[in-house]
Parts: sequence; structure tokens; C-alpha cells
Amino acid sequence: MNKKDACAIFQDLYDLYIEEEVEDETKQWMMEHKAVCADCRQKIGKENEGSPVLQEDSEKIWGIRVMTMLLYSLFLLLAIWMSIWYLW
Ligand SMILES: [Zn+2]
Repeated sequence: MNKKDACAIFQDLYDLYIEEEVEDETKQWMMEHKAVCADCRQKIGKENEGSPVLQEDSEKIWGIRVMTMLLYSLFLLLAIWMSIWYLW
């Protein structure tokens, strides 16, 4: 197996590797290849930079969470206010 083949295989399997869906032997080989191959590290790094989707998603989730908390506290305040007003 020459280096170019190894790189192609590494990059093909990288997604699976991240999701830990490769066999232990493969994982071991990939860890070694990643450590010694600057080309692949660079390629992977670029691919990761090219996906800001995850960050956007977590910001969205955060927004929803804040919104839910706000609505919840508003509802709670309303409930307290209602019971005070009712008992008075
Ligand atoms: Zn490589």
C-alpha cells in the first residue's frame, strides 16, 4: 500500500472513524496515520472548518432554551399573580 492509497482510505473512513464505527485495528491504523501524515491532518482540518453548521445549531438550541425559560417564568409569575389576586 503506497502513501496515496493510504491517504485515500484514511479520508474515506474518517467520518466513520469520528463516529467510532470502525474496527479497533482500523482505528489504531488511522490514529497512526493521522499522527504521521500532515496531508491528511490538513485536509481534515479544512473539512472541519468548512462546517459551521454545528455552531449555528447550538446557538439555535440555546435561543430556544432561553425562550422556553422566559415563557416559563412569565407563566409562573402570571400564576402567582393570579393566585394572589384571587385570594385577596
Ligand atoms: Zn494521509
